[in-house]
Amino acid sequence: MHSNSKKRRSFLALLLAADDVMCWSEGENEMVGAIAGDIIGSVFEHHQIKTKDFPLFHPRCKFTDDTVLTVAIADAVLSGRPYVESVREIGRRYPVAGYGGSFIQWLHSDDPRPYNSWGNGSAMRVSPVGFAFSSEDKVLRHATLTAEISHNHPEGIKGAYAVFLARTGTGKEQIRSRIAEEFGYDMNRTVDDIRPTYFFDVSSQGTVPEAIIAFLDSDSYEDAVRNAISLGGDSDTLACITGGIAEAFYGDIPKDLQEKVQDCLTPDLWQVTEAFCQKYR
Ligand SMILES: [Mg+2]
Repeated sequence: MHSNSKKRRSFLALLLAADDVMCWSEGENEMVGAIAGDIIGSVFEHHQIKTKDFPLFHPRCKFTDDTVLTVAIADAVLSGRPYVESVREIGRRYPVAGYGGSFIQWLHSDDPRPYNSWGNGSAMRVSPVGFAFSSEDKVLRHATLTAEISHNHPEGIKGAYAVFLARTGTGKEQIRSRIAEEFGYDMNRTVDDIRPTYFFDVSSQGTVPEAIIAFLDSDSYEDAVRNAISLGGDSDTLACITGGIAEAFYGDIPKDLQEKVQDCLTPDLWQVTEAFCQKYR
């Protein structure tokens, strides 16, 4: 990660002053966009598609592990509980949400420790941190805390960083260059470049940059989620990460999507989501 936080802060200040500051979405900060992405992508995780032309909410769509763990991080942010406690408590409430095998073992272990994962599980759950904290340093510190309870490789923090940049008015080209500069990702690709040779990939390195590019190539929240799913990969997680960033950038997602999310969630998951939305509005 970047070692010079002063340089980073001053660069961010420059970005905020730049002419192409496009969408200052303070006052509309929520996490419904990530959850809606997970729900919309849920039917395509094991039946990948390479098109943007699909019904937005398939009759069999449902929330998955991406939503459960995103809500768990939001719960920890709201309550001040350690991240590990919220993730294990809420994660155990939904034992068949779609977790990977190593995560299931970690969830039920008496002595949970990081298991050397480089998977996209830390990226799928981190968006609330990008919404909740007021400075770049705090976002990166808390994103690392959420990741390292289970992942030795905190790749997933990059998703939170993108949410923070999008939320604080940074233009798309600056988001592209900041992500490339900070993390060394190849961001000079388009969705159309990636799609033909992309395949199911649960690594963070093979999910987060593609999810960010799906957002960069979009003109709305819905377009961003359609881009993410059209890549034909780990669709619910791609759309969850893209959806969080897209909502941070474009502002509140359409009302009918918000209502659909509420319909799909259980009362306890919705309660945390609603409380988070109200606090970080
Ligand atoms: Mg999932």
